[in-house]
Amino acid sequence: MALLVQKYGGTSVGSVERIKAVADRVYKHHKQGDKIVVVVSAMSGETNRLIELAKSMQEDPDKREMDVLLSTGEQVTIAVLSMALKSLGIDARSYTGKQVRIVTDSAHGKARIQHIDTESMKADLDSDRVVVVAGFQGVDVQGNITTLGRGGSDTTGVALAAALKADECQIYTDVDGVYTTDPRVVDSARRLDKITFEEMLEMASLGSKVLQIRSVEFAGKYQVPLRVLSSFTDGEGTLITTEKRESGMEQPAVSGIAFSRDEAKLTVKGVPDTPGIASKILVPISDANIEVDMIVQNISADGTTDFTFTVHRNEFDRALAILKDIQLELGAKDVIGDAKIVKVSIVGVGMRSHAGVASTMFKALALESINIQLISTSEIKVSVIIDEKYMELAVRSLHSAFELGDSSTSN
Ligand code: ASP
Ligand code: MG
Repeated sequence: MALLVQKYGGTSVGSVERIKAVADRVYKHHKQGDKIVVVVSAMSGETNRLIELAKSMQEDPDKREMDVLLSTGEQVTIAVLSMALKSLGIDARSYTGKQVRIVTDSAHGKARIQHIDTESMKADLDSDRVVVVAGFQGVDVQGNITTLGRGGSDTTGVALAAALKADECQIYTDVDGVYTTDPRVVDSARRLDKITFEEMLEMASLGSKVLQIRSVEFAGKYQVPLRVLSSFTDGEGTLITTEKRESGMEQPAVSGIAFSRDEAKLTVKGVPDTPGIASKILVPISDANIEVDMIVQNISADGTTDFTFTVHRNEFDRALAILKDIQLELGAKDVIGDAKIVKVSIVGVGMRSHAGVASTMFKALALESINIQLISTSEIKVSVIIDEKYMELAVRSLHSAFELGDSSTSN
């Protein structure tokens, strides 16, 4: 018997049939004697529909009212799923975030959970009830409804699992786990049985959009075993954990290949190589709330240097405009940019104990004549920036260079 928090995303509750399928799955676990708290998202497309509705009333919708509106999406699914469970003979009870008392700060649209009351949920579980909780929402101390940001139901699931000390938080979605890379790019991509929180964070932030990043951080911090599974098929999914892999088995150096198409690169050329230049360039960028990812400064030739950094592609035009504005002030010879680049990364905690991983990566890219524009490394990843037209080729060649593929399919 286990205490499970099962979170079902929008596509998993996207229709009457899907909701019934979720009810069947919950029924099976409940029959086995598991205690279950279900967290649900709004039906797929619903949150977007509500946002459009709000925008048709007010150009920049009031944030408090927006949260009142958006929370209705999840309120529908908790009630409907509870009805479906009752029709199967299971005693189920739905709760909004406010009813549970998932207390958050007052940052509407991106609220952070501060505290969760667990008493009534525990009482329900003890009386053999299935508890159905609305994801993505909470309440501030003044009683205002808040929401946690897009994709926030994952965070609700993890936070409930942490508060209830659940055995596992299971995130049901439309993919059956975390893969060595995107199977749409590499046929032989393989589902991973296990991945560590650290690796998952790198995979998620590098563009493998399986879980909301915040929920993975949260799960890592509170050591909540997290499992990603499909609600469409049966299977073990991928367990995200701190646990070491089975001893005796050699840990692979690289667990997966992540990539992101949302990159752009800016270069300030020929700036004086003097103290303070990096901050002069980057402070206006961060003041404009533009996040900077990789940063590279070259050695100086003739007392000047080139300074390159990357930003999200959506921020490219703004960042370029800011740099052009301060070009004179910086004493820079030129400001150039390129929004046709991508980032490809190899990720793996095994890198810590394996030498030569980066050189294997560079060799594989060289064999395909792919030019590397920028490199950055951490303990568990190596990222390169390359021309976007080589992205798929790079991912495929790295996937096979590190022998990540499923041997039954060719690359
Ligand atoms: N319904 C919300 C969204 O679409 C929350 C979630 O699905 O996790 O972002
Ligand atoms: Mg979602």
